Amino acid sequence: MNSLVEGEGRETERAPLRGDDVERSGLARAVFLDRDGTLSEDVGYARDVMAYRLFPWTIPALRALRRAGYRVIVITNQSGVARGYFTEELVRQVHHRFESELRRYGAQWDAIYYCPHHPEGAVMAYRQVCACRKPATGLVERAQREFALDLRRCVFVGDKYSDIQLAHRVGARGVLVLTGHGREQWARSRREGWSPPDHVAENLWEAVRWILRHGNEAERGATP
Ligand SMILES: [Mg+2]
Ligand SMILES: [Zn+2]
Repeated sequence: MNSLVEGEGRETERAPLRGDDVERSGLARAVFLDRDGTLSEDVGYARDVMAYRLFPWTIPALRALRRAGYRVIVITNQSGVARGYFTEELVRQVHHRFESELRRYGAQWDAIYYCPHHPEGAVMAYRQVCACRKPATGLVERAQREFALDLRRCVFVGDKYSDIQLAHRVGARGVLVLTGHGREQWARSRREGWSPPDHVAENLWEAVRWILRHGNEAERGATP
């Protein structure tokens, strides 16, 4: 456990799940979490690793998800790399810092994937229309392959509408949290008439409580 595998835009930490987590289908379920504004405070494009902080409820939330047999997968857009505000190295340092803090309190994620691109980035190497920037589905497909996931039984949690769009695009459910940009995004989505999230939660802890109550109702559309 705790061996880190790194590769282009990916850090994967594999740890065994209990046998009952994989259902008859042979496919596992996961909760996909956004990073900034969901797991941690949204600190803009901060260049200082120490500026990044997990929310206090993130540790118990992740512990509860794994205890309930969910894979926990983080997917994050880090366009600050393409914009030239910070390097991929900083992104990795932030992730290592979060991982060690989680581990200290008996929590962990299974993997974190990030997109460093942006179509109008200032750094040419990252300036592109990619398949991995949310709400594009590239990183979710990768996680699906690597963890053999049944996406219809997965739930996404994020503070932006792109997180909800991505969830619905892949046939999963989406929970909007009101931390980070959540409040502004929720107000805007109602003004614009965007298709609603499956649930709106005050924060990640409340989102996890909802997931644990409704997780077994399986597919999208099954819950009010
Ligand atoms: Mg976010
Ligand atoms: Zn990308």
